[in-house]
Amino acid sequence: MCGIVGFTGNRQAAPILLDGLSKLEYRGYDSAGLAVRDGDAMAQVVKAKGRLSNLVEKTDNGNALKGTCGIGHTRWATHGAPSDINSHPHMNNAGTIAVVHNGIIENYIPLKKKMQDKGYQFVSETDTEVLAHLLDYYYKGNPLEAITKVLHRVEGSYALGIMFADQPDKIFAA
Ligand code: GLU
Repeated sequence: MCGIVGFTGNRQAAPILLDGLSKLEYRGYDSAGLAVRDGDAMAQVVKAKGRLSNLVEKTDNGNALKGTCGIGHTRWATHGAPSDINSHPHMNNAGTIAVVHNGIIENYIPLKKKMQDKGYQFVSETDTEVLAHLLDYYYKGNPLEAITKVLHRVEGSYALGIMFADQPDKIFAA
């Protein structure tokens, strides 16, 4: 079972997210990742296969990622091997939407095919990545509208944490 944490506030997010993920380690996981953003800047994403300590090391205890808003994830792979690329967060092609997901998108194969036909490039083997591209497809500036449309199309189970580049300081959860 994966873990999801989010933080937005006045403090640096990355160390808080890492601390939150460490409290969820007992649930089991095979890789971990963070997306952190500072004000209007796009999210920076760092992922690491294996123990959370690998992510801690890769981000210098979180100090390498500057920003006060972010989402973090520990992954228990269901679709795609444990790897840096398959770790969450997943992004749309423009790098403006970041998604972490707990669960399984049962109908991701036909959805992935449809999005590929529309020109979306997939980089991972996960079911989750289709959510990032579907959000991109439906997002016209209203996050709740886009998320609602996406959730009407997906079947399966999900807990989601989402950030949009043009929605500073906000985390969306479903
Ligand atoms: N199905 C997703 C994946 O394989 C999420 C797994 C999880 O809940 O950690 O990446």
